Amino acid sequence: MRLVLLGAPGAGKGTQAKKLIDKYGIPQISTGDILRKAVADGTPLGKEAKGCMDKGELVPDSVVIGLVKERLGQDDCKKGFILDGFPRNTSQAETLDGTLAGVNMPLEVALSVDVDFDVLLKRLTGRRTCKQCGQMFNIYFSTSSKEGVCDKCGGALYQRDDDKEETIKKRLDVYRAQTEPLIGYYAAKGILKRVEGVGDIEEIFRKICSIL
Ligand code: AMP
Repeated sequence: MRLVLLGAPGAGKGTQAKKLIDKYGIPQISTGDILRKAVADGTPLGKEAKGCMDKGELVPDSVVIGLVKERLGQDDCKKGFILDGFPRNTSQAETLDGTLAGVNMPLEVALSVDVDFDVLLKRLTGRRTCKQCGQMFNIYFSTSSKEGVCDKCGGALYQRDDDKEETIKKRLDVYRAQTEPLIGYYAAKGILKRVEGVGDIEEIFRKICSIL
């Protein structure tokens, strides 16, 4: 399956992508995760991206598109992939379409995970991420059993720099202006599906599986 997950920051794309990996055995390609790793490793790419990320702005297309193309070319993507956080604007979407058409592997589904604005805010400000395995928790909705410690692997939980309040508003503004138009873009191509991303994580996952 070749899938794009659409949705605002905090809509739960990452959480659902991790469950889809287990079910379908295809890789998740999260540009946010790739960029955060580059920042943590202090690579030249990370240094270039960090400023934009800390401000809640998009990293330049030239940087992100290169990363995704390289990742899509790896063997494990031949059986399918879940793109999470990419594309973020129409130009990225068009480039992706061109790249996939070139290898005769067009997207099959663009799934939008829809969540109201006030819920998004709480999810983002309360989000805590495991440094080790990327598992996410939330101090309001889904706490870890032991504060600050990942239930899955015992790693330390932290708050992403861009999950701090000042940055969140900017990220949501950027989503509305640049990413939300992709809903119309994929609807016009006839591959858009939508799911209500509020409620129990397992229930949302069941709805996603029945859509897919
Ligand atoms: P995310 O984890 O997907 O919310 O991404 C975190 C940050 O990484 C975003 O706020 C952007 O600064 C950057 N980023 C992630 N994906 C992209 C993308 N496709 N295009 C540009 N910037 C991105």
